[in-house]
Amino acid sequence: ADRVAQQQTRSAAHTRDGVHVLVAANLGSVADAHLAVSCGADLAGLVRTEFLFSDRDTAPDVEEQEAVYRDIGHALDGRLLTLRTLDVGGDKPLRYQPVAGETDPFLGVRGIRLSLARPGLLADQLLAVVRVAHDTPVRVMFPMVSTVAELAAARQVLDAAITREGRGAPPGLEVGMMVEVPAAALKTASFAPYVDFVSIGTNDLTQYTLAAARGNAGVAGLADPYDPGVLSLIATVCAGAGRAAVAVCGEMAADELATPLLLGLGVGELSVAPRAVPAIKQAVRAVDRGRAAVTAARALRAEGPRQVRALLAGDTTQPG
Ligand code: PEP
Ligand code: MG
Repeated sequence: ADRVAQQQTRSAAHTRDGVHVLVAANLGSVADAHLAVSCGADLAGLVRTEFLFSDRDTAPDVEEQEAVYRDIGHALDGRLLTLRTLDVGGDKPLRYQPVAGETDPFLGVRGIRLSLARPGLLADQLLAVVRVAHDTPVRVMFPMVSTVAELAAARQVLDAAITREGRGAPPGLEVGMMVEVPAAALKTASFAPYVDFVSIGTNDLTQYTLAAARGNAGVAGLADPYDPGVLSLIATVCAGAGRAAVAVCGEMAADELATPLLLGLGVGELSVAPRAVPAIKQAVRAVDRGRAAVTAARALRAEGPRQVRALLAGDTTQPG
Protein backbone atom coordinates (compact mmCIF):
# COMPACT_ATOMS: atom_id res chain seq x y z
CA ALA A 1 0.00 0.00 0.00
CA ASP A 2 2.92 2.34 0.75
CA ARG A 3 4.36 1.66 -2.70
CA VAL A 4 1.02 2.48 -4.28
CA ALA A 5 0.81 5.73 -2.31
CA GLN A 6 4.37 6.64 -3.31
CA GLN A 7 3.60 5.91 -6.94
CA GLN A 8 0.53 8.19 -6.73
CA THR A 9 2.67 10.94 -5.22
CA ARG A 10 5.30 10.84 -7.94
CA SER A 11 3.10 10.31 -10.98
CA ALA A 12 1.66 13.13 -13.04
CA ALA A 13 -1.74 14.54 -12.10
CA HIS A 14 -4.50 14.39 -14.72
CA THR A 15 -8.10 15.50 -14.27
CA ARG A 16 -10.88 12.89 -14.70
CA ASP A 17 -11.28 14.07 -18.26
CA GLY A 18 -7.58 13.71 -18.99
CA VAL A 19 -6.13 17.22 -18.69
CA HIS A 20 -2.52 17.16 -17.47
CA VAL A 21 -1.98 19.70 -14.68
CA LEU A 22 1.48 20.51 -13.36
CA VAL A 23 1.75 20.54 -9.59
CA ALA A 24 4.81 22.53 -8.62
CA ALA A 25 6.50 23.59 -5.39
CA ASN A 26 7.31 27.02 -3.98
CA LEU A 27 10.81 27.04 -2.49
CA GLY A 28 12.55 29.31 -0.01
CA SER A 29 15.71 27.27 0.62
CA VAL A 30 17.82 24.38 -0.68
CA ALA A 31 16.18 22.12 1.94
CA ASP A 32 12.79 22.95 0.41
CA ALA A 33 14.03 21.58 -2.93
CA HIS A 34 14.76 18.17 -1.36
CA LEU A 35 11.39 18.25 0.38
CA ALA A 36 9.63 19.18 -2.87
CA VAL A 37 11.07 16.12 -4.63
CA SER A 38 10.09 13.75 -1.81
CA CYS A 39 6.59 15.25 -1.86
CA GLY A 40 6.28 14.51 -5.58
CA ALA A 41 6.50 18.01 -7.09
CA ASP A 42 6.69 18.00 -10.91
CA LEU A 43 8.89 21.11 -10.87
CA ALA A 44 9.78 24.15 -8.75
CA GLY A 45 7.23 26.77 -9.79
CA LEU A 46 8.63 29.58 -7.65
CA VAL A 47 11.96 30.02 -5.91
CA ARG A 48 11.75 33.02 -3.61
CA THR A 49 15.40 34.06 -4.02
CA GLU A 50 14.99 36.69 -1.28
CA PHE A 51 16.19 34.06 1.24
CA LEU A 52 19.68 34.50 -0.20
CA PHE A 53 19.65 38.29 0.20
CA SER A 54 17.93 38.98 3.51
CA ASP A 55 19.35 38.98 7.05
CA ARG A 56 22.83 40.07 5.94
CA ASP A 57 24.72 43.31 5.36
CA THR A 58 25.75 42.91 1.72
CA ALA A 59 24.32 41.16 -1.31
CA PRO A 60 25.65 37.69 -2.20
CA ASP A 61 28.09 37.82 -5.12
CA VAL A 62 27.53 35.99 -8.42
CA GLU A 63 29.51 32.92 -7.31
CA GLU A 64 27.58 32.49 -4.08
CA GLN A 65 24.25 32.80 -5.88
CA GLU A 66 25.34 30.41 -8.61
CA ALA A 67 26.38 27.79 -6.03
CA VAL A 68 22.99 27.95 -4.29
CA TYR A 69 20.98 27.80 -7.53
CA ARG A 70 23.11 24.81 -8.57
CA ASP A 71 22.41 23.09 -5.26
CA ILE A 72 18.68 23.58 -5.81
CA GLY A 73 19.04 22.30 -9.38
CA HIS A 74 20.88 19.18 -8.19
CA ALA A 75 18.20 18.49 -5.59
CA LEU A 76 15.54 18.81 -8.30
CA ASP A 77 17.35 16.19 -10.37
CA GLY A 78 16.36 17.41 -13.82
CA ARG A 79 13.04 18.98 -12.90
CA LEU A 80 12.40 22.51 -14.12
CA LEU A 81 13.59 25.27 -11.81
CA THR A 82 11.72 28.61 -11.79
CA LEU A 83 13.97 31.30 -10.33
CA ARG A 84 12.17 34.51 -9.45
CA THR A 85 14.43 37.53 -9.43
CA LEU A 86 14.79 39.44 -6.20
CA ASP A 87 11.41 40.56 -4.87
CA VAL A 88 12.18 42.94 -2.03
CA GLY A 89 10.67 46.19 -0.83
CA GLY A 90 7.13 46.43 0.52
CA ASP A 91 6.84 43.88 3.33
CA LYS A 92 10.38 42.60 2.58
CA PRO A 93 12.91 45.45 3.05
CA LEU A 94 16.68 44.90 2.64
CA ARG A 95 19.19 46.56 4.99
CA TYR A 96 21.68 47.33 2.21
CA GLN A 97 19.11 48.52 -0.36
CA PRO A 98 17.00 50.97 1.65
CA VAL A 99 14.29 52.88 -0.15
CA ALA A 100 13.92 56.30 1.44
CA GLY A 101 10.79 58.24 2.18
CA GLU A 102 8.04 55.75 1.37
CA THR A 103 4.79 56.09 3.25
CA ASP A 104 3.13 53.26 1.28
CA PRO A 105 5.85 50.63 0.67
CA PHE A 106 3.36 48.24 -0.98
CA LEU A 107 2.74 50.94 -3.59
CA GLY A 108 6.38 51.92 -3.82
CA VAL A 109 9.74 50.79 -5.14
CA ARG A 110 9.48 47.00 -4.75
CA GLY A 111 9.95 43.89 -6.90
CA ILE A 112 11.04 44.61 -10.47
CA ARG A 113 10.86 48.35 -9.75
CA LEU A 114 13.69 48.09 -7.22
CA SER A 115 15.68 45.81 -9.56
CA LEU A 116 15.41 48.30 -12.41
CA ALA A 117 16.28 51.22 -10.11
CA ARG A 118 19.48 49.40 -8.96
CA PRO A 119 20.30 47.34 -12.05
CA GLY A 120 23.66 46.08 -10.72
CA LEU A 121 21.91 43.66 -8.36
CA LEU A 122 19.68 42.34 -11.14
CA ALA A 123 22.60 42.05 -13.57
CA ASP A 124 24.55 39.90 -11.11
CA GLN A 125 21.56 37.75 -10.31
CA LEU A 126 20.78 37.14 -13.98
CA LEU A 127 24.42 36.25 -14.67
CA ALA A 128 24.21 33.54 -11.99
CA VAL A 129 20.89 32.36 -13.45
CA VAL A 130 22.32 32.18 -16.99
CA ARG A 131 25.35 30.18 -15.86
CA VAL A 132 23.16 27.62 -14.10
CA ALA A 133 20.70 27.49 -17.00
CA HIS A 134 23.44 26.00 -19.19
CA ASP A 135 23.40 22.89 -16.98
CA THR A 136 19.86 22.46 -15.68
CA PRO A 137 16.41 23.42 -17.04
CA VAL A 138 15.62 26.93 -15.82
CA ARG A 139 12.83 29.45 -16.12
CA VAL A 140 13.44 33.00 -14.94
CA MET A 141 10.53 35.08 -13.66
CA PHE A 142 10.20 38.78 -12.86
CA PRO A 143 8.03 39.88 -9.88
CA MET A 144 5.58 42.80 -9.59
CA VAL A 145 5.61 43.78 -13.24
CA SER A 146 3.09 46.51 -14.09
CA THR A 147 4.03 47.60 -17.63
CA VAL A 148 5.37 46.09 -20.84
CA ALA A 149 8.19 48.65 -20.66
CA GLU A 150 9.35 47.17 -17.33
CA LEU A 151 9.34 43.67 -18.80
CA ALA A 152 11.30 44.90 -21.83
CA ALA A 153 13.85 46.60 -19.59
CA ALA A 154 14.27 43.46 -17.50
CA ARG A 155 14.70 41.36 -20.65
CA GLN A 156 17.45 43.76 -21.74
CA VAL A 157 19.31 43.15 -18.50
CA LEU A 158 18.91 39.41 -19.18
CA ASP A 159 20.28 39.81 -22.72
CA ALA A 160 23.25 41.72 -21.31
CA ALA A 161 23.84 38.88 -18.81
CA ILE A 162 23.83 36.35 -21.66
CA THR A 163 26.40 38.45 -23.53
CA ARG A 164 28.53 38.84 -20.40
CA GLU A 165 28.41 35.07 -19.75
CA GLY A 166 29.69 34.53 -23.27
CA ARG A 167 28.26 31.19 -24.46
CA GLY A 168 25.04 32.49 -25.99
CA ALA A 169 21.48 31.98 -24.74
CA PRO A 170 21.17 28.79 -22.67
CA PRO A 171 19.07 26.31 -24.66
CA GLY A 172 15.62 26.05 -23.16
CA LEU A 173 15.87 29.09 -20.87
CA GLU A 174 12.30 30.32 -20.51
CA VAL A 175 11.30 33.82 -19.47
CA GLY A 176 8.16 34.73 -17.57
CA MET A 177 6.59 37.21 -15.23
CA MET A 178 4.40 37.25 -12.19
CA VAL A 179 0.95 38.73 -12.54
CA GLU A 180 0.30 40.46 -9.21
CA VAL A 181 -0.80 43.92 -10.28
CA PRO A 182 -4.38 44.30 -11.57
CA ALA A 183 -3.24 46.42 -14.54
CA ALA A 184 -0.85 43.66 -15.59
CA ALA A 185 -3.66 41.08 -15.38
CA LEU A 186 -5.85 43.26 -17.60
CA LYS A 187 -2.99 43.68 -20.10
CA THR A 188 -1.99 40.00 -20.28
CA ALA A 189 -2.53 39.90 -24.05
CA SER A 190 0.01 42.75 -24.42
CA PHE A 191 2.60 40.89 -22.35
CA ALA A 192 1.99 37.48 -23.90
CA PRO A 193 4.18 37.88 -27.02
CA TYR A 194 7.19 38.56 -24.75
CA VAL A 195 6.85 35.69 -22.26
CA ASP A 196 6.87 31.90 -22.26
CA PHE A 197 4.73 31.74 -19.13
CA VAL A 198 2.98 33.86 -16.52
CA SER A 199 2.48 32.98 -12.86
CA ILE A 200 -0.35 34.63 -10.97
CA GLY A 201 0.62 35.76 -7.47
CA THR A 202 -2.79 35.71 -5.85
CA ASN A 203 -1.42 37.03 -2.54
CA ASP A 204 -0.43 40.37 -4.01
CA LEU A 205 -3.09 40.37 -6.73
CA THR A 206 -5.76 40.08 -4.02
CA GLN A 207 -4.34 42.89 -1.89
CA TYR A 208 -4.10 45.25 -4.87
CA THR A 209 -7.51 44.34 -6.29
CA LEU A 210 -9.38 44.79 -3.00
CA ALA A 211 -7.14 47.64 -1.76
CA ALA A 212 -6.60 45.60 1.44
CA ALA A 213 -3.00 45.14 2.61
CA ARG A 214 -1.88 41.57 3.17
CA GLY A 215 -1.17 40.94 6.83
CA ASN A 216 -3.44 43.76 8.04
CA ALA A 217 -5.90 42.02 10.36
CA GLY A 218 -8.33 44.93 10.11
CA VAL A 219 -8.98 44.21 6.42
CA ALA A 220 -8.30 40.46 6.37
CA GLY A 221 -11.97 39.76 5.62
CA LEU A 222 -11.79 41.90 2.48
CA ALA A 223 -8.54 40.43 1.16
CA ASP A 224 -10.23 37.27 -0.09
CA PRO A 225 -8.94 35.62 -3.29
CA TYR A 226 -12.41 34.13 -3.85
CA ASP A 227 -13.75 37.64 -4.46
CA PRO A 228 -15.29 37.55 -7.96
CA GLY A 229 -13.21 40.65 -8.81
CA VAL A 230 -10.02 38.65 -8.32
CA LEU A 231 -11.48 35.65 -10.17
CA SER A 232 -12.40 37.88 -13.07
CA LEU A 233 -8.77 39.02 -13.33
CA ILE A 234 -7.57 35.39 -13.27
CA ALA A 235 -10.03 34.62 -16.08
CA THR A 236 -8.69 37.60 -18.05
CA VAL A 237 -5.12 36.34 -17.63
CA CYS A 238 -6.07 32.87 -18.90
CA ALA A 239 -7.97 34.33 -21.85
CA GLY A 240 -5.15 36.70 -22.81
CA ALA A 241 -2.16 34.41 -22.35
CA GLY A 242 -2.29 32.86 -25.82
CA ARG A 243 0.63 30.42 -26.13
CA ALA A 244 2.11 31.44 -22.77
CA ALA A 245 1.49 28.91 -19.99
CA VAL A 246 -0.51 30.10 -16.96
CA ALA A 247 0.37 29.13 -13.39
CA VAL A 248 -0.87 30.22 -9.97
CA CYS A 249 1.74 30.40 -7.21
CA GLY A 250 -0.08 32.32 -4.45
CA GLU A 251 -1.55 30.65 -1.34
CA MET A 252 -4.82 30.07 -3.16
CA ALA A 253 -3.15 27.36 -5.26
CA ALA A 254 -2.73 25.25 -2.12
CA ASP A 255 -6.42 25.42 -1.19
CA GLU A 256 -8.18 22.25 -2.37
CA LEU A 257 -11.53 24.04 -2.52
CA ALA A 258 -10.02 26.33 -5.17
CA THR A 259 -8.61 23.54 -7.37
CA PRO A 260 -11.70 23.06 -9.59
CA LEU A 261 -12.18 26.84 -9.73
CA LEU A 262 -8.63 27.56 -10.93
CA LEU A 263 -8.60 24.67 -13.41
CA GLY A 264 -12.05 25.71 -14.63
CA LEU A 265 -10.78 29.24 -15.23
CA GLY A 266 -7.98 27.79 -17.39
CA VAL A 267 -4.93 27.57 -15.11
CA GLY A 268 -2.49 24.80 -16.09
CA GLU A 269 -0.02 24.77 -13.20
CA LEU A 270 -0.48 25.06 -9.43
CA SER A 271 2.59 25.92 -7.37
CA VAL A 272 2.29 25.28 -3.64
CA ALA A 273 4.29 24.71 -0.47
CA PRO A 274 6.10 21.35 -0.84
CA ARG A 275 4.01 19.58 1.80
CA ALA A 276 0.79 20.58 0.01
CA VAL A 277 1.80 18.88 -3.26
CA PRO A 278 0.30 15.41 -2.59
CA ALA A 279 -3.10 16.81 -1.55
CA ILE A 280 -3.25 19.13 -4.55
CA LYS A 281 -2.36 16.27 -6.93
CA GLN A 282 -5.27 14.31 -5.42
CA ALA A 283 -7.55 17.34 -5.75
CA VAL A 284 -6.62 17.66 -9.45
CA ARG A 285 -7.49 13.99 -10.00
CA ALA A 286 -10.96 14.59 -8.56
CA VAL A 287 -11.77 17.42 -11.00
CA ASP A 288 -13.72 17.11 -14.24
CA ARG A 289 -12.34 20.10 -16.10
CA GLY A 290 -15.39 20.42 -18.35
CA ARG A 291 -17.73 20.64 -15.38
CA ALA A 292 -15.29 22.85 -13.49
CA ALA A 293 -15.38 25.36 -16.36
CA VAL A 294 -19.16 25.64 -16.00
CA THR A 295 -18.85 26.15 -12.23
CA ALA A 296 -16.06 28.72 -12.74
CA ALA A 297 -18.23 30.70 -15.17
CA ARG A 298 -20.96 30.82 -12.50
CA ALA A 299 -18.41 31.88 -9.86
CA LEU A 300 -17.49 34.90 -12.00
CA ARG A 301 -21.10 36.07 -11.78
CA ALA A 302 -21.47 35.35 -8.05
CA GLU A 303 -22.14 38.22 -5.70
CA GLY A 304 -19.24 37.64 -3.35
CA PRO A 305 -16.67 35.22 -1.98
CA ARG A 306 -19.21 33.53 0.29
CA GLN A 307 -21.39 32.62 -2.66
CA VAL A 308 -18.34 31.37 -4.59
CA ARG A 309 -17.36 29.06 -1.73
CA ALA A 310 -20.93 27.79 -1.46
CA LEU A 311 -20.98 27.07 -5.18
CA LEU A 312 -17.73 25.10 -4.89
CA ALA A 313 -18.96 23.20 -1.87
CA GLY A 314 -21.83 22.08 -4.07
CA ASP A 315 -24.31 23.95 -1.91
CA THR A 316 -26.22 26.02 -4.42
CA THR A 317 -29.18 26.56 -2.11
CA GLN A 318 -27.38 29.27 -0.09
CA PRO A 319 -29.46 32.45 -0.07
CA GLY A 320 -27.86 35.36 -1.89
C1 PEP B 1 2.10 36.28 -4.41
O1 PEP B 1 2.11 37.51 -4.28
O2 PEP B 1 1.03 35.61 -4.50
C2 PEP B 1 3.35 35.52 -4.46
C3 PEP B 1 3.38 34.22 -4.74
O3 PEP B 1 4.51 36.20 -4.16
P1 PEP B 1 4.94 36.55 -2.63
O4 PEP B 1 3.97 35.84 -1.72
O5 PEP B 1 6.34 36.07 -2.51
O6 PEP B 1 4.80 38.03 -2.63
MG1 MG C 1 3.98 38.62 -4.52
